[in-house]
Amino acid sequence: MSSTSSEHSYGLFIGGKDTPGTAGDRQDVLDPATNRAIGSIAVASADDARHAIESAQHGFESSDWAGGDGAQRTKVLQRIARKLEERLDEFARLETLNMGKTLKESRGDMGFVVRTLDYVSGLADKIEGETIPVPGARLDYTLREPLGVTVHIAPWNYPLLLAVRSVAPALAAGNAVVLKPASLTPLTALAFAKLAHEAGLPEGILNVVVGSGGRIGESLIADPRTASVAFTGSGDVGRRIAELAAQRFIPATLELGGKGPVLVFPDADLDRAARGIAFGIFGNAGQMCWAGSRLLVHASISEALVNRVATIAKGLKLGPGSSDGVDMGPLVSPGQLASVLSFVEESGAEGGRIVCGGSRVTSAPLGDGNFLAPTVVADLPSGAHILRDEVFGPVLAVTTFDDTEQGIRAANDTRYGLFASLWTRDLATALATARRLQAGMVSINEAPVTFPQAPFGGYKESGLGFEQGTDAILQFTRRKNVVVNLSQPKPAKTS
Ligand code: NAP
Ligand code: MG
Repeated sequence: MSSTSSEHSYGLFIGGKDTPGTAGDRQDVLDPATNRAIGSIAVASADDARHAIESAQHGFESSDWAGGDGAQRTKVLQRIARKLEERLDEFARLETLNMGKTLKESRGDMGFVVRTLDYVSGLADKIEGETIPVPGARLDYTLREPLGVTVHIAPWNYPLLLAVRSVAPALAAGNAVVLKPASLTPLTALAFAKLAHEAGLPEGILNVVVGSGGRIGESLIADPRTASVAFTGSGDVGRRIAELAAQRFIPATLELGGKGPVLVFPDADLDRAARGIAFGIFGNAGQMCWAGSRLLVHASISEALVNRVATIAKGLKLGPGSSDGVDMGPLVSPGQLASVLSFVEESGAEGGRIVCGGSRVTSAPLGDGNFLAPTVVADLPSGAHILRDEVFGPVLAVTTFDDTEQGIRAANDTRYGLFASLWTRDLATALATARRLQAGMVSINEAPVTFPQAPFGGYKESGLGFEQGTDAILQFTRRKNVVVNLSQPKPAKTS
């Protein structure tokens, strides 16, 4: 696929159609490997946001998507999955072009999207109520109804994957969706909405509007017809969304940031651990909520492990995600690069030792893009800024521990609690430690790994609610209790 502006020119997707938007505003979309425009998109006005909600409300009320047979939704979702599978490479290329990640990573993301669609499609006809024994001659039962119009706000790091992760269960439950992708990375969401309609999704059931989160995002949530919001992004924005949702008493799921600890015990397989640690912090150029960004290693093996990770880091080939053999792409934007670099510089001032990386790649041909050499910072004092806040880049912060208690305490010493991992050959240590880690997800002897059928979510400031798994679909339904009085009128006395 070549990358001319006209080829990647999109409007908003409202009511089953590509529309230019009422204000006529457009915005360029950039390739993070070059910071050159690769296309342009229509930017939604407040009126467009309203139209998108109206379109969803109309689709919800007028099509039989909500009330119809769940098995019909299963079929449509499976058709969407098959169509995406057929065009997987094209979608992966578009994701890479817009977001920067390697083609291999984008193909992995698209595969996950397909599996998510397949998984939730199987749940669409299994949304069931209960019958509840109550006193007297009565039948008490519950219904599970779709909420109506659901709003979904997605970040830029896994643009399509994180959008579909909440959109697919909402659709499976019979809702009508308005999706707002991140302004930096809207292309795959717009292309996906078109594909979904070509696969038979009724008009108005999936709408996509692009525009500033602060304006369009907030007006979507404030709209009285919006019944829930699913948000994935930063903690500060998550807090604002929780406030807006609270004002309207609508449910909000919040998938927020992380500061994932990686605990390595002295008996771990160091080669395997080093590969996993590198994957967990340099994958997606470190722009992962569930990155293993804090390495907590037993002091006795610290040097050996850090050397192994640094050797892997130095061997990674940087370049545009679409080029052959590239291991790590650019960061998503110049702003993200500057933010990550400021953490690295500050860590040096705080006494950290830069083991490898630590600077932007300025030489041709990568100098125009947002490339940062994979970085390891060791010897950090506890309390260093880089150990406390989310960096969201390819930067591993290392500290050591001397005994298990100290290691677990350090792992939990954070306001986040999304993902934690640990490396040991001892099953008892592994399971006892997993119980004590304050994180919504713990992985043992493997780098970040998840599946559509496994819950994904965080403790503490990492969020509220879980996505994925069978429960994910229930969040997009509400319960109704119905009680029926079955007593027969007493027969009138005949005298
Ligand atoms: P972000 O700045 O919070 O933006 C996320 C989305 O929210 C974007 O679509 C953004 O729109 C929109 N937004 C911004 N302000 C808003 C407001 N006031 N009201 C409504 N929507 C608003 O996050 P990001 O920088 O894209 O992504 C990085 C963050 O996401 C990191 O903290 C990361 O940890 C987190 N994350 C969490 C998970 C998880 O599953 N827990 C997964 C991935 C990422 P604009 O693009 O127009 O600003
Ligand atoms: Mg942001």
